[in-house]
Order: sequence, then C-alpha cells, then structure tokens
Amino acid sequence: MHTCIMASRITRGSDTNPDPRTAADVRDSHVMEAPEPDRFHPSADELLEANADFVAEFADADLGVAPTRRLAVVACMDSRMDMFRILGLAHGEAHIIRNAGGVITDDVIRSLCLSQRFLDTREIILVHHTDCGLQKVGEDEFKAELEAEIGVKPWWALESFTDPYGDVRQSLQRLWMTPFVVYKEHIRGFVYDVTDGRLHEVGLAG
Ligand SMILES: [Zn+2]
Repeated sequence: MHTCIMASRITRGSDTNPDPRTAADVRDSHVMEAPEPDRFHPSADELLEANADFVAEFADADLGVAPTRRLAVVACMDSRMDMFRILGLAHGEAHIIRNAGGVITDDVIRSLCLSQRFLDTREIILVHHTDCGLQKVGEDEFKAELEAEIGVKPWWALESFTDPYGDVRQSLQRLWMTPFVVYKEHIRGFVYDVTDGRLHEVGLAG
C-alpha cells in the first residue's frame, strides 16, 4: 500500500504534498524517468481574494430569491460558456442549472420542478454547444474502462452524443415528456458555437 502511494506521488507530483523522498531516494529511484509534475496549483486562496473585491462592491442585497425574468436556463458546464454574458443576464434574473452536457437528468428535472412550483419560473432555455467533451467519449467504452479500472460500472448514464443539435432535441423531448415540469409553453433549445459565440436555435422537428 505504501509503495502505491509513493508511486502515485512520484508519477503525479504535487505542490500540496511535499515530496518526502531524500536526495538519495531520488537518485536511486526512477524519478528521472518520471513525467514532469503537472504544476497544479489550487485556486481557492486567489478566489477568496477576488471575493473580497466582490464584497467591497456588492450592491445586490435587495435581490429576491425568485428570478425576475421568471426564467430557468439549463446549460452544459463547459468553462467557455459564461451564461450571464452569453445571454445578457444580470444577477437575480434567472436560474442557471448546469451539468456535463446540459442533459435533462432526473436531478435537472428536480431543479426545474422546484424552480416552477416555488420560485415561479415559466420559461426554460436549453444551451448545449459545439466541441462538447461528451462528443469525445463513447458511453460503452467509458463504462467498460471504469469497470476494468475500479471494479464497478457506473449506475448512471454518461449521456455522450455525437450531434449537439440532436442532443438538444433529445433534451427538449424529455422536457415535453416529464410530468414534473408543468409549464411547457415557453421552452426553447440552442446550440452555442464556441468558435464565434453565436446561439443557433434547434427546432423539435430537426
Ligand atoms: Zn459540454
């Protein structure tokens, strides 16, 4: 077990766990052949500094809990999509519900149900995008890999896809079919193009 931990440290490197090896260890080990440490630095401290600036300028104390546009957005978690900027939204105007792919999962339906029933939203916008990470991995191979590596197959679907437009259509259909999202009059779906920032609307018929 100890050997495994050491091997892991040598392979990955870490800035938070100082290397416990002595100079002799280093000389005698395979460290010279090991890959470069990944130079990962946690961001939390910098984020707290940024938050201090945010607090200094904070002016939203009067915002109510219900989104003022009565809007819920379901989007992929992709780091290239700043949903507030893409849609011109301000604080307090919309619920933003995100996961890998912007997939309509049971948990997204849970959030939308709460959003509509208790916080009065009446419109849903879906935003998937081009060059999504979920286009680059197959459902079956992903599950087989995990099972081989850790001994258990995930009990959840990865929800990988090939065509982002088809994937939005799938999500629209799930919203239409669920009984827990009651207000369906204003649901629209879009694909965000990560190369130019434009939204392309997706019709149900395709
Ligand atoms: Zn994505």
